[in-house]
Amino acid sequence: MEIYDALVIGGGQSGLAAGYHLQRAGLRFLILEASDEATGSWKRYYDSLKLFSPARYSSLPGMRFPGPPERYPTRDEVVDYLHAYAEHFRLPIRTHAFVKRIERQGVNFIVHMNGQGTLTARSIIAATGAFSRPHLPQLEGQERYQGKILHSSSYQNPTAFKHQRVLVIGAGNSAVQIAVDLAQTARVTLTSRDPVRFRQQRIWGRDVHFWIRITGIDTWKRAFPSWNPGEIKKAEVLDTGVYQAALASGNPTYHALLERFTETGVQWEDGQADEFDTVIFATGFRPNFPYLAALGALDENGNALHTGGVSTTVPGLYYVGISGQRSHASATLRGSGADAAYVIRDLRRYCKRPVTTEARRCCDSLQPA
Ligand code: FAD
Repeated sequence: MEIYDALVIGGGQSGLAAGYHLQRAGLRFLILEASDEATGSWKRYYDSLKLFSPARYSSLPGMRFPGPPERYPTRDEVVDYLHAYAEHFRLPIRTHAFVKRIERQGVNFIVHMNGQGTLTARSIIAATGAFSRPHLPQLEGQERYQGKILHSSSYQNPTAFKHQRVLVIGAGNSAVQIAVDLAQTARVTLTSRDPVRFRQQRIWGRDVHFWIRITGIDTWKRAFPSWNPGEIKKAEVLDTGVYQAALASGNPTYHALLERFTETGVQWEDGQADEFDTVIFATGFRPNFPYLAALGALDENGNALHTGGVSTTVPGLYYVGISGQRSHASATLRGSGADAAYVIRDLRRYCKRPVTTEARRCCDSLQPA
């Protein structure tokens, strides 16, 4: 039976960055990707998406993002870049390999795939993304609303919403970008629980990522372990001025949080009501690691129990791509490489450790009853 040093679950940027470092470490590994290609979720994001970081700060390790470094690349350019990346490094990827369950057997992990049997490995890197399980909160009266409700992850472009009245709920990048995108052809209102907070994309002529890089803000988490960059990042919209100007012009309009849904729309806190054909929730995502449930790797909300991407409950289990995993940049293109390098340093030591009887016993005791 073939035993891999590592199996990487997920073939997006996180899985590819992990593959790059595993290859450099000379380890035997395979990337398992559920879909037909290793470009992650990018193809599913909305058509008008432009990166919030310039090309210069959007590279995975070992390969520069192509083209002029100061521009903000499009979604499709990222897809092309990921294709080229996997090809350039000849990363071993198995597509159509949906991982449904991982179990422990002695010191090894047994990975069960849909229709593709099982594989065995000493270690696992979970790289299935922080943005794949849409979060749809239940607001008051929502069940009575007769219009269409969807999550921002299903939004592609404004075509289907022409001349509609659309409400977008949320205060983050996606909420604002989608609201402005839609406002070209629809009557759009943006609403959020907390006010929308903008962060200037360019400061003294340089992109904010330049300043983040030279001040070292990315790595503050190491100095202040209780600081959670994932939380801070949540409600800030990076803006060159376009989005603020659009909101200031009233297209889209902004309204503070709604009181409740009605049958035809919403009622605001001041008692006024508005009608909407469609409501788009840009309300974020939740962790999505169902295949790890049997290992005791998750808390009661499905969050990974980890420090810096190293599982704190399951030896040999690692993560790349969790928001705030190690820094402000975690779960973004520019952060994946550093996080992958960090966990693979630990993984390498773990795989080199001789399998003693004691370790075997320790791992056996971690198996679920
Ligand atoms: P994903 O891209 O989600 O890839 C995970 C892969 O795992 C997928 O290919 C999926 O098919 C596979 N998978 C899932 N479950 C299984 C399973 N059980 N078995 C096998 N395979 C599985 N970041 C930036 O740097 N710049 C931006 O401008 C930017 N914009 C964003 C805009 C939006 C709307 C969103 C949601 C995120 C954005 N991000 C951005 C954040 C982040 O870079 C992306 O979400 C990126 O796709 C994350 O890459 P990933 O590899 O971690 O996850």
